[in-house]
Amino acid sequence: MEKIKMTTPLVEMDGDEMTRILWQMIKDELLTPFIDLKTEYYDLGLEERNRTDDQVTIDSANATKKYGVAVKCATITPNAARMKEYNLKEMWKSPNGTIRAMLDGTVFRTPIAVKGIEPNVKTWKKPITIARHAYGDVYKATEMKIPGAGKAELVYTAEDGTEVRKLIHNFTGAGIIQGQHNLDASIESFAHSCFKYALDTHQELWFATKDTISKKYDHTFKDIFQEIYDTQYKEAFEKAGISYFYTLIDDAVARVMKSEGGFIWACKNYDGDVMSDMISSAFGSLAMMTSVLVSPDGYYEYEAAHGTVQRHYYKHLKGEETSTNSVATIFAWTGALRKRGELDGLPELSAFADKLEKACLTTIESGKMTKDLALITTIENPVVLNSQDFIKAIRGELEKML
Ligand code: NAP
Ligand code: MG
Repeated sequence: MEKIKMTTPLVEMDGDEMTRILWQMIKDELLTPFIDLKTEYYDLGLEERNRTDDQVTIDSANATKKYGVAVKCATITPNAARMKEYNLKEMWKSPNGTIRAMLDGTVFRTPIAVKGIEPNVKTWKKPITIARHAYGDVYKATEMKIPGAGKAELVYTAEDGTEVRKLIHNFTGAGIIQGQHNLDASIESFAHSCFKYALDTHQELWFATKDTISKKYDHTFKDIFQEIYDTQYKEAFEKAGISYFYTLIDDAVARVMKSEGGFIWACKNYDGDVMSDMISSAFGSLAMMTSVLVSPDGYYEYEAAHGTVQRHYYKHLKGEETSTNSVATIFAWTGALRKRGELDGLPELSAFADKLEKACLTTIESGKMTKDLALITTIENPVVLNSQDFIKAIRGELEKML
């Protein structure tokens, strides 16, 4: 068979530990035998980030702006232990944080549905995608402990010196306060990313806040979304036969539990943090979840939702067998290849991505899986494969389809 051609390179961001091992296996077994793989390679492994003073991360984000589509391996976010382990010059920031800040996007996470791994919520027939706003609110808040009686106020000082004050509370005893903020520009780009992604994936979009209680703060989110929808997306949504639905967060939570799934749920930063953990565990596992950062300028960065699976890597280093699930990392590649195929008018590349995803699902549905899935599957007597053999089994299914 002739290899499938590519015209524009993917931005390839390599990573750390067990996922770095899987990364190479996926390329060797599932990609390069079938595709004339074109990538611009950036090594975001911690050693290279340290050697380049993290310039490589910045370069990879700039390359994403240039080419439009990136695929990223999981990477270590350094902490004190990693400082020592890798003898780091500095406690480098999370690459995801750096890339997100440069591309200004929203993170979309979707469970990968497969027969034999059933959602805990009976009514869920299709995956629910969480779209999490990744800027501000409680994550950028300033907090204070109030020691005793006294007055706390919100004060805004404009550049010309004029002040606006609002009483928070006249304390008669000890207490706590917190100041949160967000930016219209960030909320706007969040909204654009969500509307574009809904059109792209042909799904309904839900959005919810607590605007009845938070009449200025949360209401601003609601208003910005509505304004952007009405003026820029309504027509396209109607044409595509999908809808935008706003409701109160309490109502959204209640409806999600009774829904069939198959929609995008846009969440404010905190709601998205909490609800994505609920959605992913109710659907099965972090290793069965796709994750894509979509920027309002139309750049896409695909990754796995899980980390570098450190515990498995140390076993691997000791020469012990591992059974690490590569599905989320494979889906990062297929997501990126499919998008590249769409943008470059290469239907055979997109079709390959579809087939590779199907091969992953067929492998699992035939009872061959990694240990994490074997523990939760409804399939009887599953065959537990090691990391390498699982990928080889997927290749077997893929070859049948090609
Ligand atoms: P993790 O890599 O997500 O793994 C936590 C545990 O979840 C594993 O020990 C394993 O459980 C299970 N698991 C996760 N992915 C799996 C897979 N593909 N197959 C099978 N089991 C899987 O989180 P972590 O160990 O807390 O973090 C390790 C490193 O990843 C950290 O340095 C962190 O900074 C980084 N991280 C990176 C990203 C990213 O780049 N997007 C995200 C999160 C964390 P068992 O051990 O029970 O088998
Ligand atoms: Mg969380």
